[in-house]
Amino acid sequence: MSRSPTLPDRPTLDLDPESSPEERLAALREHLRRLVDVNEQLDDQLEAVRDHRADLREEVDDLQRENETLKTASLYLATVEDLSEDGAVVKQHGNNQEVLTDVSERMRERIEVGDRVTINDSFSIQDVLDAETDARAQAMEVDQSPSVEYEDIGGLEEELREVREAVEDPLVNPEQFAAVGVEPPSGVLLHGPPGTGKTMMAKAVANETDATFIKMAGSELVQKFIGEGSRLVRDLFDLAAQEEPAILFIDEIDAVAAERTDSKTSGDAEVQRTMMQLLSEMDGFDERGDVRIIAATNRFDMLDSAILRPGRFDRLIEVPEPDQEARERIIEIHTREMNLAEAVDYESLAAKTEGFSGAELESLTTEAGMFAIRDDRAEVTMADFEAAYEKIVENAEDGSLPPYASYVR
Ligand code: ATP
Repeated sequence: MSRSPTLPDRPTLDLDPESSPEERLAALREHLRRLVDVNEQLDDQLEAVRDHRADLREEVDDLQRENETLKTASLYLATVEDLSEDGAVVKQHGNNQEVLTDVSERMRERIEVGDRVTINDSFSIQDVLDAETDARAQAMEVDQSPSVEYEDIGGLEEELREVREAVEDPLVNPEQFAAVGVEPPSGVLLHGPPGTGKTMMAKAVANETDATFIKMAGSELVQKFIGEGSRLVRDLFDLAAQEEPAILFIDEIDAVAAERTDSKTSGDAEVQRTMMQLLSEMDGFDERGDVRIIAATNRFDMLDSAILRPGRFDRLIEVPEPDQEARERIIEIHTREMNLAEAVDYESLAAKTEGFSGAELESLTTEAGMFAIRDDRAEVTMADFEAAYEKIVENAEDGSLPPYASYVR
């Protein structure tokens, strides 16, 4: 990429000693004009070369930066487990390797036990991660005011009454419990088939009591953040205490609280630690103020009995599949906003959909709406519901995803 310019010829001056003064003057003038000309050309060339140099400098800077980045090795993530005179014990995420490492005075002032830090190949602490970098926060769903209301839940009157008694009353009327001298139930466990309204109930109670709704799935606790489950549980309870009044909803609790097996794999040990942390948080829960815990599971049979002891999840509420009446009500709820033809008959739809969960009934109504849209109609007819029903049953039979999976939730 040679861009060296060719220099203009240098003008020469040949003065004929024989020539007259006028001729010499003219020759000198001509020479001067050529010199000025060449000077201009050289100026232009100099300008171009300067531009080129600036470009090259930029290129060098870029390459130098790239080089630096390539030379800096990636850092590992770890949690500070302990701090003592000997240094810091850090546990590397992913492989759970624990090491004692030296910490500089400057770093020691910045870190606390429990902090997430970056470490290099020799386990020396490089930096402390701030809350924003902390991916764990993303694992929790925090909703200051969920929009679900009790009227949005079809059926489940008795179950809802029990949940309200155990969760809402202690939040709204704590004096009543103090006056009678009983402790409100610590935690409520909702169990039943998927898509029957467990999450909805927890959200509705949070909404009606003006509590913050905080959700975490048990599977996230053990899968996504290997080695950090127990820390995550602590964070979850801390967050709830900060946000009080709050409803802490732990979905898929079976993922952390499945009955102990004999297997001794490290994954199981991790699940155990997470569960122990959960139990200890629940045991020390009284001082935490207005926070109620609701857990949910589809696998009640798998739960460890330790989690069901008094003072923990001691209020068990079964959330069943909706019966005929509940199905009618759920279809009615989910078609409230729809433009329905006169002939749409909730009762016969409910009779037809025995075995459907609330979530499947919701998808039936959405799917029926889609059929009307496809047909360019604004009104949803009974035939649309029938087509939707066929589609859902077919999908369920061939094992493909229910149609609502792509747009519900
Ligand atoms: P999972 O066990 O899969 O977490 P879940 O029991 O928590 O399920 P929800 O998340 O509460 O179920 O329900 C999913 C959706 O199904 C809700 O958003 C709601 O639209 C609908 N649904 C389920 N049950 C009912 C119900 N009883 N009344 C009205 N809608 C319902």
